[in-house]
Amino acid sequence: AAAKKAPARAPQTLSFDDIGGQEQAKRELTEALDFLVKQDQITKLGIRPLKGILLTGPPGTGKTLLAKAAARHTHSAFIAASGSEFVEMYVGVGAGRIRDLFNEARKQAAKLKLDSAIVFIDEIDGIGGKRDGGQHREYDQTLNQLLTEMDGIQGNESPRVLLIAATNRKELLDAALLRPGRFDRHIQVDLPDKTGREHILKLHARNKPLAEDVSLAKVADETFNFSGAQLESVMNEAAIYAMRDGCEQIGANHLALAIDKVMMGERMDRETTK
Ligand code: ATP
Repeated sequence: AAAKKAPARAPQTLSFDDIGGQEQAKRELTEALDFLVKQDQITKLGIRPLKGILLTGPPGTGKTLLAKAAARHTHSAFIAASGSEFVEMYVGVGAGRIRDLFNEARKQAAKLKLDSAIVFIDEIDGIGGKRDGGQHREYDQTLNQLLTEMDGIQGNESPRVLLIAATNRKELLDAALLRPGRFDRHIQVDLPDKTGREHILKLHARNKPLAEDVSLAKVADETFNFSGAQLESVMNEAAIYAMRDGCEQIGANHLALAIDKVMMGERMDRETTK
């Protein structure tokens, strides 16, 4: 079977400024990306090329956004896939898809006349989970192909490829992926703190008319432990409540209802998956 072609969108329009909070993750990521940009210096100093960056953290905290912003920051082609896409019944299919993904990334970069390409694999644990003594041959082949692709990344090739992967569960990853020379950088992407939450709310309020009684700082106070994805949902739900009320602006009451709704949805999700 041919690999599903993930749409390549390059250069990305999403930038680090569109990501709320996550200051440390952004700093660590841009620092790591310097390795891609300052390749000449890296080669002169004999530093081995950076092949992979692993983003770890709970769902909805902006890992995909960070990968896209990384592509824009480095002016790279961008191609994305999810680890769950590689789970196939037949031996070899998953491995072929990995090969196609990296080839496609190189092709896209060449087509767009860019020097580098970023391959983003979300839910990498779907491919690179711990191996259990050769019981899953298909799975092993897919992981092996990924390791082969990473090992093949050279500092001097054109276009250069960088793998960014994300997982919610780093402890499940196979040791082969965590060895030096594979994912050399691990970046933690945690739930946002209060300042981060306010920043995220502000970003998602950019296109929304807010009433005077709204304080996003107060909303940030009341959304402890919410992820960026949940905060986006709060702003969106609040706008829907405002529309239902026939209001032209989103009021504090709409935001309060939206917080309850998102919190409730989360609780229901947890109960149904028990
Ligand atoms: P998953 O692990 O579930 O794949 P993720 O960490 O990759 O999640 P994203 O896909 O980056 O999460 O985020 C989902 C959505 O949540 C984004 O499209 C955005 O609307 C919102 N979001 C999450 N984090 C942030 C953030 N830090 N700033 C602004 N928006 C955010």
